[in-house]
Amino acid sequence: MRLTSLRALPALGCFLVFSSTFGHAQTLTPMSASIALPDGPTKEPKRPTSFDLGSLDKTADPCADFYQYSCGNWVKNNPIPSDQVRWGRFNELAERNNYLLYQELKSAADAPKSPLQKKYGDYFAACMNVDLADKLGAKPVEAELKAIDTLTDKKQLAPLNVELEEKFAGGAFFGVGVGQDQVDSTKQILQTGQGGLTLPDRDYYITDDARSKKLRDQYVAHVTAMFVLAGDTPEAAAKEADDVLRIETALAKGSMARVEMRDPAKRYHIMTIAQVQELSPDFNWSQFLTAQKFGSVPTLNVSSPGYVKTVNTVLETEDLTAIKHYMRWHAIHGAAPYLSKPFVEENFNFFNATLAGQKEQTPRWKRCTRMTDQALGEAVGQDWVKQYFPPDAKANMEKLVSALERAMAEDIRTIGWMGDDTKAEAKKKLDAFRQKIGYPENWRDYSKLAVKREDLLGNTERNQIFERDRNHSKLGQPVDEKEWGMTPPTVNAYYQPSMNDINFPAGILQPPFYDNAIDPAVNFGGIGVVIGHEMTHGFDDQGAKYGPTGNVKDWWTPADKKNFNERTDCEAAEYSGFKVAEGQNLNGKLTLGENTADNGGIRIAFAALQETIAKSPKTALAGYTDGKRDGFTAEQRFFISFGQIWCGNQTEQSARMLAKTDPHSTGEWRVKGTVQNFEEFGKAFGCKVGQPMMPTNACRVW
Ligand SMILES: [Zn+2]
Repeated sequence: MRLTSLRALPALGCFLVFSSTFGHAQTLTPMSASIALPDGPTKEPKRPTSFDLGSLDKTADPCADFYQYSCGNWVKNNPIPSDQVRWGRFNELAERNNYLLYQELKSAADAPKSPLQKKYGDYFAACMNVDLADKLGAKPVEAELKAIDTLTDKKQLAPLNVELEEKFAGGAFFGVGVGQDQVDSTKQILQTGQGGLTLPDRDYYITDDARSKKLRDQYVAHVTAMFVLAGDTPEAAAKEADDVLRIETALAKGSMARVEMRDPAKRYHIMTIAQVQELSPDFNWSQFLTAQKFGSVPTLNVSSPGYVKTVNTVLETEDLTAIKHYMRWHAIHGAAPYLSKPFVEENFNFFNATLAGQKEQTPRWKRCTRMTDQALGEAVGQDWVKQYFPPDAKANMEKLVSALERAMAEDIRTIGWMGDDTKAEAKKKLDAFRQKIGYPENWRDYSKLAVKREDLLGNTERNQIFERDRNHSKLGQPVDEKEWGMTPPTVNAYYQPSMNDINFPAGILQPPFYDNAIDPAVNFGGIGVVIGHEMTHGFDDQGAKYGPTGNVKDWWTPADKKNFNERTDCEAAEYSGFKVAEGQNLNGKLTLGENTADNGGIRIAFAALQETIAKSPKTALAGYTDGKRDGFTAEQRFFISFGQIWCGNQTEQSARMLAKTDPHSTGEWRVKGTVQNFEEFGKAFGCKVGQPMMPTNACRVW
């Protein structure tokens, strides 16, 4: 739940959906031959279906509310399970993938067949060992707390900052990471970001309405409770918690807002080490960088100079004791999911229950499966893809991607608001797109990661250090174009502007997104729109600022830029009008890139379907009688398939939190906003101009 990474820039990619970070590790029973499961799964989740007539609400008018029409019965019949805060068709598939992965992890933990299986089996087993975690209590984090306690001089903070940052990937004032230089994407440079907060966004510290104030009180109560669990008296804990809130509030005020961070120009400030030192004289940067073996680096990118200055003010104005309380909190908070039951429960009570509205703790086997996938995804994934990703799936995807690329080229060629010069540049960028499908060509090497079967927190710390070292070793090295940012079973996809590539993990290439046995209309409405979405990210408000080789570059004529901005402004204003909870609307500027990607994605997927039908109508319309299948035309099936991807329920708390933090609109508005901006939808369902799903003031970018 970090605002942004301390280590690096946020331009890591534009995902299809928001994946909230895994919070909590778990345990199991004694490590005899087999892992006992106190809360193991009882049955295999069913495979989602592609086109679900049972989900439709045929009493609704598709032209008035297409989300209700395509998802009404699904929404009614699928309440949020008590261990979730959102439940949709995405989650159905993700839960099934997680279950299948769990089966693999469990057998690897019980009877590994290879050294790699032994490694991830042990990682999983350590996580499942609840008894050991409960027995150890706060012990695994004690050495860290002692190290903080022995700090005697604020000026000597840097090495401790390094230690906290390397073990918990956050939880300190500063961090550095290596990433592509946005003006020369072939270069890997050192960068520092902003962070240091615990609540999900800076707004939580700053906004002064009653709801925010109450949440802050609840947060302070939570921090206090955690300090007490760590052995402090209630009085001391309350004082410590006040210090934590005050310091984090100062950091929040000095941080850039999410919307601002979307602009590459605003997060690019190359500085010499001496210049950074000048920004924050009270923090010893040379000591900090030397401790991470970066002694001779001349420059780095400071994405948020205001944050660096603010940290300095905190170091200047806060006394040593308060600073130690802040660091102590972050060590406890970072370790909490891997400690004993009281820590895990208190952590759940605030972050999952209070903040997000989750009723019950997620079963430990689910948490441990996700945690192992996150740590050793390309080890676990090797076996997973053998079982669940047949070779023809990759070939079929390649065909679909080509169809979408042709449609996008045609869209650029024919679009009315853009001049020929800019069109030529846009086409160059499209031609330079690279694609990655399913899983990596070269699997990562985990041989240097030590895993111990009885050391849960130690494993996560060693994993963090392993990832940190891997990232740091990239400095000055060529960029690995084949590297993946998601693990194979992930139900998601992404576009990365600095690589200009689109990425589709094996996990999403299944129903309801893709189904070999269904007509192209349904697949184009599902995975087709997903592909189109990722491609359009190359041309959304952020992507349009990058050229074909992934460098920030202005390839627009002034007139076309003006046209583009007018169109994105239209979308930003439109989506800002969409309500997700009482008094809480979407932020059209925060969600602009994703909304643009949805709106462009559906157009090009629809065009690709039309091309496919025109080319080989017999194959494309097999199973249709008099132009219909299940009572729907191909065009209608396309839109229903698209709408049904987003069927879902979510808690009010989660809706509010995501409206502030998630660059994606909620499912309901992803459906309605997208179809109401696309005239072909109204035509397919015979809507009249002026009806809600066919408004006169529709917005169109691509
Ligand atoms: Zn996206």
